Amino acid sequence: MMSKLVLVLNCGSSSLKFAVIDAQTGDEHLSGLAECFNLVDARIKWKMDGNKDQADLGAGAAHREALDFMVNTILASKPDLADQLVAVGHRVVHGGEKYTRSMLITDEVVHGIEECASLAPLHNPAALIGIRAAQASFAALPQVAVFDTAFHQSMPKQAYAYAIPQKLYREHGIRRYGMHGTSHLYVSREAAKALNKAVDDTNVITCHLGNGGSVTAVRGGKSVDTSMGLTPLEGIVMGTRSGDLDPAIIFHLVDNLGYTLEEVNNMLNKQSGLLGLSEVTNDCRGIEEGYADGQKGCTLAMEVFCYRLAKYVASYTVPLKRVDAIIFTGGIGENSDLIRKKVLDHLAIFGYQVDDAANTAARFGNEGVITQAGSPIAMVIPTNEEFVIASDALALI
Ligand code: ADP
Repeated sequence: MMSKLVLVLNCGSSSLKFAVIDAQTGDEHLSGLAECFNLVDARIKWKMDGNKDQADLGAGAAHREALDFMVNTILASKPDLADQLVAVGHRVVHGGEKYTRSMLITDEVVHGIEECASLAPLHNPAALIGIRAAQASFAALPQVAVFDTAFHQSMPKQAYAYAIPQKLYREHGIRRYGMHGTSHLYVSREAAKALNKAVDDTNVITCHLGNGGSVTAVRGGKSVDTSMGLTPLEGIVMGTRSGDLDPAIIFHLVDNLGYTLEEVNNMLNKQSGLLGLSEVTNDCRGIEEGYADGQKGCTLAMEVFCYRLAKYVASYTVPLKRVDAIIFTGGIGENSDLIRKKVLDHLAIFGYQVDDAANTAARFGNEGVITQAGSPIAMVIPTNEEFVIASDALALI
């Protein structure tokens, strides 16, 4: 029988996540993370057959060195695994309007990803480095690009158009695109299964809450609205990103307070969100601890995060008309029973009633319905973006 093992690569601007996944069963044979690229402490850690290991990559190492290490040291130690690989699947953040589904990578697709790079200047170039490095290391394997934006290409124009002169859309592609598509797609499909409904008859609101986060209205298996926009800065409160704000704040900071545009960019992307509100941490666990201790900043961060998220969820009743379930996923969505409870309490007008025991139980990888019998349904479904990437790669080769 032909192997179904796919190498999944997720290249960030300063990190690389990798995994070897059986695209049919979802079994993970290898997973790892290389991080701190271009710094003195660039390093790589991985887990193979249940054993964890790590190594320094050397000062200044980046994607190329990390991939070389993965191929020449990690995979080389297990030739039977390397021999069974049938494809490489790459996560690519921005596919613009060009890519509405995953693509087998050709020179033309590489060029297309380059063209979309102006829309994701931190992310797409990293994916291209990963693609080129993987093409060099695995010349015999087909490579597939899976786009974060693709799932949201089904949004109607009323959801994706910004109310700005449309020349900017026509000539420069300025519109809302949305991100985390593979996660929203995966959990909405899993929700249909759990609800025992056909995908095309399932309407859910999916909340992907990680360091970045977005909320999507999925109607009949298709994204009809999502909270991220042209870039991952729009939408809900995130770890270090502000989410929605009055854009005139930017002019005020630059014109009256002496900020440079670079400083504003850095402030909104890296110093805002949970970190900016709490003035303590961007990490949800730290926010929860501070909140439990009555620490002021963490309390503010927690309240603003949940209130804003609940407002987004409520607004997606507009495109959906009927909501079969609210889904929580991502590091925060899968683990913070406190945030889920607070968000659903804000949504009491729709009748949501949390089942506290079920809510507490649905953590650390456990999934399940977290609302009481008779309440509209909210549930936790751990996401699995790597699995979607591996399945798409297998489907295309
Ligand atoms: P990324 O977007 O980088 O993939 P994750 O999906 O792993 O991130 O989410 C990271 C977030 O999940 C962090 O804010 C982290 O604090 C939060 N998180 C992880 N475990 C828990 C937990 N047990 N309780 C609350 N929050 C958690």
